[in-house]
Amino acid sequence: MICPYCNKEMKKGILSGDGRSIVSWKEGDKKANFWDKIGGVCNVDAMKYTLATFSAEAHYCPDCKKMIIDTDIG
Ligand SMILES: [Zn+2]
Repeated sequence: MICPYCNKEMKKGILSGDGRSIVSWKEGDKKANFWDKIGGVCNVDAMKYTLATFSAEAHYCPDCKKMIIDTDIG
């Protein structure tokens, strides 16, 4: 997916979180593990926390600090 802000290729990854830990994003097709979260390299500070666990495919542009998330994945 191309970033609509800078027109560069975005990184595909998994956005994930639950009620007890921080929201994070990791490149690839696996969600961030405990050590990724401790490292803090993929934290998503803008996310609000809920009690529900979730994960979703998200495309991330490190230059613009933007994400695009598919809301209808069937
Ligand atoms: Zn961009």
